[in-house]
Amino acid sequence: MNLLTHTSATTFRCCPQKYNLAYVLGWRKSDSGPALRMGSAVHRVRERMRMRDQYPLRHIEEAPISEHERQATLAIAYAWGEFWSEDDARTDGAGVLATELAFRVPIMGARGGRVRGWKYAGKIDGIIRRKDGSVLIDELKTTSQDIAPSNHFWQRLHIDSQIAGYFWAAMHLGFQPAAVQYDVIRKPDLTIHDVPMLDEDGLKIVHDAGGARVKTQQGKWRQTGDKALGLVMQTRQETPDEHGTRIACTLRHKPENHFARTEVAMTSVQLDEWMQGLYKTKLDICRCAKSGFWPRHDSACNFPPCQYRDICFNRYAGAVPPAGFVTVKNVHPELQEEETHGTKQAVVGPDEGRPVAGGPVAAVEGSSDTPEGRDLAAEYADHGPDAGAAGAEPLRVAQSDTQG
Ligand code: SF4
Repeated sequence: MNLLTHTSATTFRCCPQKYNLAYVLGWRKSDSGPALRMGSAVHRVRERMRMRDQYPLRHIEEAPISEHERQATLAIAYAWGEFWSEDDARTDGAGVLATELAFRVPIMGARGGRVRGWKYAGKIDGIIRRKDGSVLIDELKTTSQDIAPSNHFWQRLHIDSQIAGYFWAAMHLGFQPAAVQYDVIRKPDLTIHDVPMLDEDGLKIVHDAGGARVKTQQGKWRQTGDKALGLVMQTRQETPDEHGTRIACTLRHKPENHFARTEVAMTSVQLDEWMQGLYKTKLDICRCAKSGFWPRHDSACNFPPCQYRDICFNRYAGAVPPAGFVTVKNVHPELQEEETHGTKQAVVGPDEGRPVAGGPVAAVEGSSDTPEGRDLAAEYADHGPDAGAAGAEPLRVAQSDTQG
């Protein structure tokens, strides 16, 4: 069975050669990168929150990420949970109907029949029922883009092919979604900053070109560097705790810059258009595969930077991936994440996406727990910056200390 996902279809439309490298040859960067690893961890915590887990942040402790990434992820997940807690308490009704819902649903051809040998696959973050009875598809996105209300980021959602795909899949699974709740986290600055090294008196240390510590004309230790004079402020990398605290403060300062939601509905006309586009993409992939020719769309190489630039720009033609790449067996790892983490799917029938007997409202592990029992702040204090230090008081860094 051939699978087309939102990501693979988008990759092909962006550049057929990129699709060939990623999905036909299966060549992937050996390091998935911190943003992907952290995004996965944030998704995991949010899923546990939705499932009324009393200790959702503990799952970050188990995530295969670095200590800096762990503290950053804790800060983001905690801030997200705090920001939306009132809103969720006000609107969530029957709660979670499904979570991490993997699907494989039909692709329809031009004459309305099911395309043989191909399925549209993906995973829906969650399906929730509101107090007013409406059912929403719940989708979390992390982005680097500006999410101000007037930004094109939001306007584009009405033609978003992933949202249309979720509607199609949810309807095929037996749900009747009113809208997709599109929940966005704008990533804070995740780079690990250099911070000044301090002496025993808490003063910064500046060296001259010869490595000697520099004093001012008044005989005090100099506190600023000067490139032109060869005076260099001595620095070190911020620790994981400092990193997490800085990010927590940034999120606390202006949470509305980092967290936003909207609801997007789709009409049947929009869904038809989306399906026509998906079918066309499937046909184009088959044509390329048949001819063995995968065109290069050079306009897609640099913005954002394509991970295959070294391969294409050097016209690499080896039979095995070059250094820095591996050949993966599973080209859709996002569909199998539940196996990695042991997550339960709520509703996926035996016939590749048909609803199970009894309808779509299946019990989800943990969903009957009372959310009132959760104390996110206490849990963050346990896991967050300086968690192991006696008398630690996280989140007390002054905002002015967090800039730049
Ligand atoms: S580097 Fe450019 S041509 Fe090559 S796969 Fe990426 S987008 Fe396509």
